[in-house]
Amino acid sequence: MGAENTVTKADYYDVLGVQKAVDDNTLKSAYRKMAMRYHPDRNPGDKAAEEKFKELAEAYSVLSDPQKRAAYDRYGHDGLQAGGASVNPDVFTEFNDIFGDLFGFGDFFGMGGRRGAAGQSRTQRGEDVRYDLTIEFEDAMRGTAIEIQVPRLDACGKCRGKGAQADGLVTCPTCRGRGEVVFQQAFLQIRRPCTQCGGRGQLVRKACDGCRGEGYIRSERKLKVNIPAGVDTGTRLRLSEEGQPGAGGGPAGDLYVVIRVKEHPVFQRHDADLHCIVPVNVAQAALGTQVDLLTFDGLQAVKVPEGIQHGQQVRMRGLGVPRVNGNGRGDLVVHVEVRVPSKLTREQRKAMEQLLQLLPSENEPEDKGLFDKLKDFLVQ
Ligand SMILES: [Zn+2]
Ligand SMILES: [Zn+2]
Repeated sequence: MGAENTVTKADYYDVLGVQKAVDDNTLKSAYRKMAMRYHPDRNPGDKAAEEKFKELAEAYSVLSDPQKRAAYDRYGHDGLQAGGASVNPDVFTEFNDIFGDLFGFGDFFGMGGRRGAAGQSRTQRGEDVRYDLTIEFEDAMRGTAIEIQVPRLDACGKCRGKGAQADGLVTCPTCRGRGEVVFQQAFLQIRRPCTQCGGRGQLVRKACDGCRGEGYIRSERKLKVNIPAGVDTGTRLRLSEEGQPGAGGGPAGDLYVVIRVKEHPVFQRHDADLHCIVPVNVAQAALGTQVDLLTFDGLQAVKVPEGIQHGQQVRMRGLGVPRVNGNGRGDLVVHVEVRVPSKLTREQRKAMEQLLQLLPSENEPEDKGLFDKLKDFLVQ
């Protein structure tokens, strides 16, 4: 399909059997119908059908691209620059049912793989890899950098992952480079990846001596993972292109570091808030007190107001967990637990007995609302 073609080319609208004013959806379904009809799998050995199939793809490639279509409408085939009428595989991504994978499609039109240059073996992105990492609670609070060792397969530098010497690749004879084979069973076309070449479309005739033909080298890589403050159990950190290498020079997959944060003996985390329990005795609860608490921000004075009840909370703003998105910190919530002495010295007993005389006794049963309050107290 170039300037040297002296035969007058058919009108693209005629090729697809549509009107010039056709809308995108009609164009698409017209193309789908025609492509199915002239599909090489349905017309094995029929050269005319194959040519028609290619012609359809070219026509659709132009008319589904608004810029190319405008140029074509105005100037006809001359309006398309050299190469402008070439088939662009991107417009066919939604026709997977017709083409199977795009690589096979690209090969069919003599374009090679999507990422590789023409004539190279097809490229494939490497697999993503998961790495589970357990970190200390403190590290999750403050953020840290941790070095991890990741077993991985590195693309062989010598053959760039192809597994073959420079002239050591041949087109697979079984699938003729398409990477898949088609079986005919009654009316059914069944596509299978080619077993001889493993779907690669090429066979290694002279193995690379750097990797003994495997295309990759096993190694253990040390990676530094920057862990931002505020990560929680289940947080996934993505390390771009640190997964398995791609095939045929394709990009590597990604490495996902999945975080698990160890429990802390004192603090419990709920979202961005930290919770802890601080016991006080009855006198402290009645009179109020100040308790020194070792937090992630050093020693902090927790002011327990007088008359505090068991289970009530003292909230300390901004002393909780940093939010990963940089949006400030949560709070530190101190749950006050009022403890009654279980053993009294003689002196303490005397003081308690005096107190007993002075305090009013309020032993009437309260309404049931109290139970709801009690439930709150029980929550840690
Ligand atoms: Zn093959
Ligand atoms: Zn190699």
